[in-house]
Amino acid sequence: MGTSFAVKVDYLAILWYIVHMISLWEKNSFIQYDFIVIGGGIVGLSTAISLKERHKKATVLVLERGMFPSGASTKNAGFACFGSPGELLADIDTIGEDATLQLVQQRWEGLQLLRNRLGDKTIDFQMHGGYSLLKQEEMDQLNRLDTLNETLYPLFEEMVFSSREEQITSFGFPASTIKGLIYNPLEGQLDTGKMMKSLQLFASQAGVEILTGAEVSRLEEDEEMTRVFVESKYNTGEICFRAGKLAICTNAFSKKLLPALELQPGRGLVMVTSPIPSLKFKGVFHYEEGYFYFRNFGNSVIFGGGRNHDLQTEESTDFDINKKILNLLMQQLEEIILPGQDFVVDQVWTGIMAFGPNKLPICRKHSDRIGVGIRLGGMGIAIGSQMGLQLAELLD
Ligand SMILES: Cc1cc2nc3c(=O)[nH]c(=O)nc-3n(C[C@H](O)[C@H](O)[C@H](O)COP(=O)(O)OP(=O)(O)OC[C@H]3O[C@@H](n4cnc5c(N)ncnc54)[C@H](O)[C@@H]3O)c2cc1C
Repeated sequence: MGTSFAVKVDYLAILWYIVHMISLWEKNSFIQYDFIVIGGGIVGLSTAISLKERHKKATVLVLERGMFPSGASTKNAGFACFGSPGELLADIDTIGEDATLQLVQQRWEGLQLLRNRLGDKTIDFQMHGGYSLLKQEEMDQLNRLDTLNETLYPLFEEMVFSSREEQITSFGFPASTIKGLIYNPLEGQLDTGKMMKSLQLFASQAGVEILTGAEVSRLEEDEEMTRVFVESKYNTGEICFRAGKLAICTNAFSKKLLPALELQPGRGLVMVTSPIPSLKFKGVFHYEEGYFYFRNFGNSVIFGGGRNHDLQTEESTDFDINKKILNLLMQQLEEIILPGQDFVVDQVWTGIMAFGPNKLPICRKHSDRIGVGIRLGGMGIAIGSQMGLQLAELLD
């Protein structure tokens, strides 16, 4: 009697690996994860860290399209804030006192988590307080400060906002335009570059893998797993990563992966001056409901915003510079922030945020295996870590 061999060959699987030039070693070690996070901004990295903290043995991969994070997290102005009076009063009017308090709490707790993880020294966190500059038409905010303080009292147990009108001239702002100043001692500032770099390091030390230059082009999901496709120049076609669960943290760029999401991109322009030896202020400052913002960075001034003066053009995911806004910012620097002082603008850049119909971010499940954490508006430094924690919990 002859021996018969049953040789089973999965031709389809072989064909797939040949076509995509994936080696045995890549297939075994680089493709399959327990969790994949798409997007390596503050939310993506924070989510990955929280996933690793909750599931010590799990494998976690972050896929970031840029060489370094390329959305908002490395482009922002480094304000560690939970909202100017103008913004918060507008929030009270639109979403109510309870939801506003909840939002502020989320920002405040997120900031504490970030500081605890990375350390104030590492991220150059400084608390010089924050100020809102009021023009005549915004002076009504002073009449509503008590309401705002009472709304936030359960969280801070102190009256956070107070008038500091007397400092308008000592800071060098023109009293002809700036009529009021509201102070918040709890606002801080940090070095965004140091923060993001140390967050990457923190994630790596926690065991998170990060691949950069990896733009996800599409997703697939079935009962067993999610598949994430990334174009690869050095493999023919695309590489298909697999994960048990998936977190989408691509903020303003998320519609490419999930077109039905309710979000609008919003471009922000920022500039920095060279050091000004006799700079008269320290801290973070904002006006026009937070649409304009500036701070000291050492003796330099970081200044940005003005999106509200050309909202339609700025609903863009392109990193172009809008000349109308650039000129407006230069004019505001000359007339409001540094009147009568010599300054040179050293650098100008843009970043892309994501907005919705109100300030509430999106942190929810898209399906059993996929969670989404996006739409942080202009306050991601504060909310980012907290959103990562919530998203990781959702994916449990
Ligand atoms: C000009 C400007 C100033 C700001 N100033 C402040 C401030 O002072 N204080 C503050 O708290 N907040 C500020 N913000 C807002 C803050 O930066 C954001 O809320 C926060 O960075 C959002 O983080 P994120 O991780 O959700 O998004 P992002 O940082 O945008 O991260 C998303 C990441 O996903 C990546 N990605 C996108 N699509 C894909 C894909 N298909 N595949 C792989 N990767 C992908 C992107 O490259 C990006 O790195 C500012 C924002 C801007 C633009």
